[in-house]
Amino acid sequence: MDKHAGAVSELVDQLGRLPGIGRKSAERLAFHLLRIPEGEALALAEAIRRIRNDVRYCSVCFNLCEGDLCSICRSDNRDSTRLCIVEQPRDLMSLEQSQAFQGLYHVLLGRIAPLEGIGPDQLTIDALVDRVREGNFSEVIMATNPTVEGDGTSLYISNLLSEFPIQITRLARGITAGSILEYANREMIADAITGRQKL
Ligand SMILES: [Zn+2]
Repeated sequence: MDKHAGAVSELVDQLGRLPGIGRKSAERLAFHLLRIPEGEALALAEAIRRIRNDVRYCSVCFNLCEGDLCSICRSDNRDSTRLCIVEQPRDLMSLEQSQAFQGLYHVLLGRIAPLEGIGPDQLTIDALVDRVREGNFSEVIMATNPTVEGDGTSLYISNLLSEFPIQITRLARGITAGSILEYANREMIADAITGRQKL
């Protein structure tokens, strides 16, 4: 027999499906949501509803945004000669928090991972090549994660872009091989951008 009432049990199940949340944590969260003021709990529900309804990918860089263009692509204060390529929107957020990069971004929405059946055509690489062809970039910075797949993706893209008269660099390896941008601290990321190397 289920030890919780239907609605509570349903919420525990849903929370328990989130990454990093085990059964015990899911129960703790569910009871927390029952205890806090109703407005606070419903604000969470509303935030979830809004990200699903209103948030989409920027039509230029594939960052997350509300509307057609993200705030970075809309800004007049960015250096439009530098383009930084990242795997995921959360990597872009980490780089933005470091405040060490003033250029534009391109989010791949993944990395080439043959073992998982993810090829170049499932990423935003075609759009990237079009952007580089039509833009006036002088430097493209590869900021894929320093993993086997991230490096492979970076190599694939730098080969594609080699026909254009631009410098291709990659982040310095202050970030330990295998570690992920998402978890690197601000100073490490700033160092990695400042010390970027020719690819
Ligand atoms: Zn954008």
